[in-house]
Amino acid sequence: MIFAKQVPLPGVESLLVYPLISGDRALGTFVLAARRRGAFTAQRREMLGVIANQVAVSVQNGLMYQKMESMATTDGLTGLSNHRTFQGRFSEMLARAERSKKPVSLILTDIDHFKNVNDTHGHPIGDAVLKAVAAVLKEQARVVDVVARYGGEEFALVLEDTDMTGAFILAERIREQVGALVHASAQGSFSCTLSLGIAAYPVDGKDKKLLIERADQCLYHAKEHGRNQSVRYADLG
Ligand code: GH3
Ligand code: MG
Ligand code: MG
Repeated sequence: MIFAKQVPLPGVESLLVYPLISGDRALGTFVLAARRRGAFTAQRREMLGVIANQVAVSVQNGLMYQKMESMATTDGLTGLSNHRTFQGRFSEMLARAERSKKPVSLILTDIDHFKNVNDTHGHPIGDAVLKAVAAVLKEQARVVDVVARYGGEEFALVLEDTDMTGAFILAERIREQVGALVHASAQGSFSCTLSLGIAAYPVDGKDKKLLIERADQCLYHAKEHGRNQSVRYADLG
């Protein structure tokens, strides 16, 4: 907001604007208006200046807290939830599903031959691939779902109110989209594929540990059987 003579402020006769400064950064402004002309005497201005400083400190603390919380819960490279957040939110979702008698699905994914990407194109290109894959996952999932970086080049999705049929459709869509991405590097352009393992609550397991174990078994099976595929727990036979 820019205050100028042309900006009508009906009923306002006195206006005081303080910058909220923290270090060398302006965080915002602290604006006071009064109906009375000359309301802000020198003495009041001094007192209000002290209050403005206090407000700046509080705003700064709030921003700092927000930043620290985001750093503690998300993965720095991809912006997805980190492993710890995945664990916590998966537990919460399973508890909700138990009460509501609704399904929940877990998809674990791992990029195929990712070590080759780093070896051939370099680590920074590898990082760019991780970001691009993360963006596909984020875009395909719904806001209520958990999309996490599970480990180095492994990602996890927890899908609320989704059974195996729905999870498999999503897994295949993700696999196709990731496979269709073309990454550029000095060594030439290339694509990557994804292997996915899926386990669903309650049919494939009732607790978190077992569901993770089973999705991981599916992932292992996908790797053993040619990669670039989605494997359901029921497929293991
Ligand atoms: P597979 O198809 O069996 O999964 O083979 P892979 O090469 O993907 O598997 P492997 O586990 O041997 O290699 C994973 C690689 O992921 C090795 C590691 O250097 C790389 N990696 C893990 N985290 C990062 C990261 O943050 N950035 C980059 N660029 N590479 C990473
Ligand atoms: Mg891996
Ligand atoms: Mg891999």
